[in-house]
Amino acid sequence: MTARAVVDDRSRGTALTLDKAVLRHLGAGGPRFTGYPTSEHFTADFSEADLTAALARSNASEHALSIYVHLPFCRHSCHHCARPSLTTQDTRRSESYLSRLDREMLLTSRHLDSTREVSRLHWGGGTPSFLTLNQMSDLVDRIDARFGLSNSHHRDYSIKVDPRDADVFTLRHLQALGFNRLSLSVLDLDVRVQHAINRYQPRVLTEQLIDEAHRLGFRSLGLELMHGLPGQTRESLAETLEQVLAMAPARLSLLPYSHRPAHFPPQRRIRAEELPSPDEQLAILDTALAMLADAGYVHIGMELFARGDDPLAKAQVQGQLSRGLAGYSALPSGDQLGLGVGALSRIGGIAARNPLALSDYAARLDAGHLPVAQGLVLSDDDHLRAYAIERLMCDMSLDLSLLDEEFGGDADRRHLAVALARLAPAERDGLLRRGDQYLKVTPVGRLLVHHLAEAFDARAGG
Ligand code: SF4
Repeated sequence: MTARAVVDDRSRGTALTLDKAVLRHLGAGGPRFTGYPTSEHFTADFSEADLTAALARSNASEHALSIYVHLPFCRHSCHHCARPSLTTQDTRRSESYLSRLDREMLLTSRHLDSTREVSRLHWGGGTPSFLTLNQMSDLVDRIDARFGLSNSHHRDYSIKVDPRDADVFTLRHLQALGFNRLSLSVLDLDVRVQHAINRYQPRVLTEQLIDEAHRLGFRSLGLELMHGLPGQTRESLAETLEQVLAMAPARLSLLPYSHRPAHFPPQRRIRAEELPSPDEQLAILDTALAMLADAGYVHIGMELFARGDDPLAKAQVQGQLSRGLAGYSALPSGDQLGLGVGALSRIGGIAARNPLALSDYAARLDAGHLPVAQGLVLSDDDHLRAYAIERLMCDMSLDLSLLDEEFGGDADRRHLAVALARLAPAERDGLLRRGDQYLKVTPVGRLLVHHLAEAFDARAGG
């Protein structure tokens, strides 16, 4: 393997050309555009009154309601972790947090029409499966009491599960509570890699859960893997992938590991020399992409792959894929309400974020206030750019004439001239093709579509 690798993308009948520039972009972090504007541009010049006005506007709209609940606890500390979380074995430590979540729901529900259907619910973290079964039941009861959960077959109620915290009883319990979709973190099945990231997870754990999830009828089961981890080689990842593909998940995420120990303290336990070399990282990615394509997985975008018959893949073909706080979905994002420390909301024409520090989150609630810390009231220009970014990231193309239809004649030229010019280097690098009235992301550009979307970020100079 040299600095460039050509991968036959059999699912699309094209070839990917991976090079070190792709790796550099993958490892660079940056916004993932689960919405626009991104949270680093929110300001403190945003009040509780701005949020409650937005909730009232949301009631008047006919938008579906999505709820995201952030649960920041983990039982284990993984060396590769880039998410702020609280590590403890003591589940009682989450009690006061759950009480505060309930207070946040109570305060919010005073402004939100509780007869609206909650079409999407997602618990993320941290590790939501950290909670005991009783705590999970209690939290679902409280959400139902404040907002009214849906029994519709079409609802999308998902939770992220750490296989080390869960067993078949957990899955049965989650199903009884109304969850119908699971995402399981695996990362890597090779014991040397697991040792290097302090995450011991025997294959049998994952297999048992997947068998049970399939038996119970959970839909669109997702597994998370990671590439670029310490100790990983093309052979070791191929072996992991072979075992994972035999488990037949409907969706598979292949997240890039981004080594930034200055930003993420747990990563200081990983020595840079343990990481695969750039050439080996390319070989690992090359191997994984070829195996996924051979197994019939479609590359949705960024790190996400899905079987061709999964609703995500179908929605993408039909131009109906959406992208919101919980990532890609086959349902419209609608108005999104985030609950919990650091949670984001995008609702009624605003974007807002709760405090990142647990103490600030608790203090706001204890004083009887909604815990909003920062936000923005979206301008017409923000709406146009949010639309352009979401369509680019979901459709892997952007029809500029549609922008004109949606936002008025020559919207693309009035608002996006700078953005389109900023995409010229990506076009030269083969990540994007540009016609008179369209942009089309190439197969290799799919890996980096969030970096292409940065060109539209006016608040970052786009
Ligand atoms: S990687 Fe996941 S399970 Fe591990 S510490 Fe981070 S949030 Fe917790």
